[in-house]
Amino acid sequence: MLELEGVHAGYDEIEVLHGVDLHVDEGEIVALIGSNGAGKTTTMRTIGGILSPTKGTITYKGEPIHRLGPHEIVERGIVQVPEDRDLFTNMSVIENLLLGAQTEEAREKRDENLQRMLELFPRLEERKSQRAGTMSGGEQQMLTLARALMGEPDLLILDEPSIGLAPHLVQEVFDVVEQIHEQGITVLMVEQNVQQTLQVADRGYVMENGRITLAETGDALLEDEGVVEAYLGV
Ligand code: ATP
Repeated sequence: MLELEGVHAGYDEIEVLHGVDLHVDEGEIVALIGSNGAGKTTTMRTIGGILSPTKGTITYKGEPIHRLGPHEIVERGIVQVPEDRDLFTNMSVIENLLLGAQTEEAREKRDENLQRMLELFPRLEERKSQRAGTMSGGEQQMLTLARALMGEPDLLILDEPSIGLAPHLVQEVFDVVEQIHEQGITVLMVEQNVQQTLQVADRGYVMENGRITLAETGDALLEDEGVVEAYLGV
């Protein structure tokens, strides 16, 4: 479905990704893990068209997308949830959700999807008129996920969806990711909660210094000595 081959990218003169190869098949949950500064967010930004690769190719459903801008990538069905959540804090929950319906297809199904989101996230239903900026961290994260789903993604890209959340909310986020996946949406996620992520992921990639150093099933990575030592705090 999505394939990165030999992708180099970075910021101005600084190259961060030095030839990244990874793929996501339809229906999978794929995790990208790695230490701080490894280049995970840079990889997500490059897929999303915020950064352009200086070398290499990105294909989606068999077509090159690495020269497309962020809006065109969303049109193709790839929706990202950025690490900083990026909500309109002065707008209500409902207004934020409606803004997630960006593409023509998503706008056509806007009302139907809005109802679906309020069912999937009862907390948002309870708080639908509240300003997003006054919601708790966990509620804001749910809103961000719901807004992304309003965009009718085929592939949902999540950058640290559980960041800054209390442990019980972290579990809630993972439960929601599994529910999203059960609805037929393919997921690529970056996460610091390596244990929980690899438990839900079909496959995972380990990134170090802008390169993929390990690619395995989630279960195999959970048992990999290097992964256990570096990321599972044992
Ligand atoms: P983290 O887990 O800490 O979010 P990451 O793996 O997502 O890390 P990136 O955010 O992709 O890592 O950062 C990779 C490198 O790129 C870092 O050295 C970082 O300082 C650098 N970098 C990130 N954003 C920018 C930017 N806007 N301008 C210049 N350098 C940047």
